[in-house]
Amino acid sequence: MKLAVIGTGYVGLVSGVCFSELGNEVICVDNAASKIELLNNGEVPIHEPGLKELIASNTAAGRLSFTTDLAAAVSSSEIIIIAVGTPSLPDGKANLAYIEQAAEEIGRAIDDYKVVVVKSTVPVGTNEKVADIIRNHSVASFDFASVPEFLREGTAVRDTLNPDRIIIGTASDRAAELLTELHRPLTDQITITDVRSSEMIKYASNAFLATKISFINEIANICEKVGADVEEVAKGMGMDRRIGSSFLKAGIGYGGSCFPKDTQALIQIAGQMDYDFKLLKSVVEVNRDQRFNVIRKLDDLLGDVAGRTIGIWGLAFKPETDDVRDAPAFEIIEALLERGAQIKAYDPIASNNFEKIFKRSEVQYCESAQEAAQDADALCILTEWKEFIDIPLTDIQKWLKTPNLIDGRNIYKEEDLEATPFAYYSIGRPKMN
Ligand code: NAD
Repeated sequence: MKLAVIGTGYVGLVSGVCFSELGNEVICVDNAASKIELLNNGEVPIHEPGLKELIASNTAAGRLSFTTDLAAAVSSSEIIIIAVGTPSLPDGKANLAYIEQAAEEIGRAIDDYKVVVVKSTVPVGTNEKVADIIRNHSVASFDFASVPEFLREGTAVRDTLNPDRIIIGTASDRAAELLTELHRPLTDQITITDVRSSEMIKYASNAFLATKISFINEIANICEKVGADVEEVAKGMGMDRRIGSSFLKAGIGYGGSCFPKDTQALIQIAGQMDYDFKLLKSVVEVNRDQRFNVIRKLDDLLGDVAGRTIGIWGLAFKPETDDVRDAPAFEIIEALLERGAQIKAYDPIASNNFEKIFKRSEVQYCESAQEAAQDADALCILTEWKEFIDIPLTDIQKWLKTPNLIDGRNIYKEEDLEATPFAYYSIGRPKMN
């Protein structure tokens, strides 16, 4: 099949590349000329394991190309997939400006029957608005469908090639048939539903996962007070198939480009219909507060952080990604700087993106984990990169000025710490030493 994918971010680029891997002819479009130039030079603007190799093989096979020319890409494709960003507006609503702009451009370019798919995460009713915009600019016939994306950054290629399910929301049999054929090589778990339910499935899924995370984080906070171990509690809970073990990892809360904005957007969607989504509001509040656990624990260890050097390991919102959007590290570092601490930070790949917000004059960006820990008064682990897990505690002890360790992701087992001099705080487990 011939596809145009509009937007070459984490979702559009990965989807486009994976569809080409299945044998389709894919043109990826972006209005950021610098991204297209990079891609045409064989470079990849984002970090996703396995992506670079697939781009190289599929461009070499002539199935994958990149352009800024949306009109030409639309005109030569049967299926148009919109995967542009829908970031939060200051009031929490989804910003639909990019979607609307893409819809207008598609409308002007359509010259023959097409299926237009919205893959971006959009509030209920947006697909219908997109269809109206296209209709206002075109006389050609088209059908539209909502096919939300569920990939996770860091495992995006694997998730796209092995999805748990594909949701196709459309009122058109022709579009349903074409999109089922497109996705069939990926999975048999394909559900056809109405457009509005499909849009809601995406928000409800992310809100539920965020709820699981905030739930286990609150259990963790209670565990600390009653002397229980949240790792044991989560393991015991997860053995119940009705609960499931995923997303029961206590830590410093969720971040990234999806959960924070999608939970806020769903609260707004409900509010616009005069529904007060109390549960989800609490989930968001618990998540924000959970980040500051790190500060409270530092205060407990150091008394006052003013003038102290704090080593930070991990800036990305999770491992295997360079995405720092809404990463917990932002608020933690901001609070530490406000209190007069000096920050030495290291992330294997996300420092450049982080530096766009906190300049080198504010944060010392280090070239290695050792450099960030060297002579620091305390070390905080904010992202569970494997690189950190592999470093022996004896090395960390040698590097630090004082052996104060705050493990915001519970990467160590308690027995690892028993015979060490570390004053060790983790999440949802008693303080050690
Ligand atoms: P992103 O910001 O990484 O990429 C969006 C891209 O769209 C950018 O490269 C931008 O230049 C381009 N763009 C914007 N307007 C354009 C236009 N008119 N024409 C051409 N290109 C245009 O965003 P993302 O993380 O890939 O997310 C895209 C959507 O998918 C969002 O709605 C997001 O909520 C959703 N989503 C994201 C993830 C994720 O993990 N990142 C997972 C599931 C769903």
